[in-house]
Amino acid sequence: MAAELQDKNLDPCPFCGSDAVRIVEGIGAGFKQAMVLCADCGATVSFHEEHTYIEVMEQWNRRGEKND
Ligand SMILES: [Zn+2]
Repeated sequence: MAAELQDKNLDPCPFCGSDAVRIVEGIGAGFKQAMVLCADCGATVSFHEEHTYIEVMEQWNRRGEKND
């Protein structure tokens, strides 16, 4: 699946440093929502305004670039 290729572009987990992070689809407020899941520490990060793999991946990788 295309998602596997995209996952390789994810930065390591900010909590444990593992690169075993991948994007999964969860159910948010009645709609599918993509979120990042760390397979090592179990952390999940979702972005309320981002609903696609690409958008979540971009937000994930953008974390360290700004502090607001
Ligand atoms: Zn982790």
